[in-house]
Amino acid sequence: MSTDCIFCKIVQGDIPSKRIYEDDDVIAFHDIHPITKVHFLIVPKQHIESLISCGSQHQALLGKMLLLAPELAKQQGLTGFRTMINTGREGGQEVFHIHMHVFGGGNTLPKT
Ligand code: AMP
Ligand code: ZN
Repeated sequence: MSTDCIFCKIVQGDIPSKRIYEDDDVIAFHDIHPITKVHFLIVPKQHIESLISCGSQHQALLGKMLLLAPELAKQQGLTGFRTMINTGREGGQEVFHIHMHVFGGGNTLPKT
């Protein structure tokens, strides 16, 4: 838990979010500024700054986050989706608590 981290505050329930999933390790909620029709974030409860801060001890957690994406996407009515983990300032990361974006339901993202 990092006291000035917005996602830790969401995990604690101190800041409201539109949650779509929660278990002991992970929560998922809709992005506050969606850029596709469906846009949610998969976030570990543990405060980890970014993918750069991860090591082999996080392997199971990262695998869990990845495998949750298709499950939650299906629940949101998607048959396909895009995932993104922005990493570091240079990688476009703005919230320094690791999270995976899941986008779908409208092709407003550029083809890469
Ligand atoms: P990133 O650039 O990957 O760090 O993206 C951070 C994402 O968190 C952005 O898409 C924001 O819209 C989203 N975000 C920031 N604050 C909140 C919040 N309180 N609830 C839901 N999503 C948020
Ligand atoms: Zn945090």
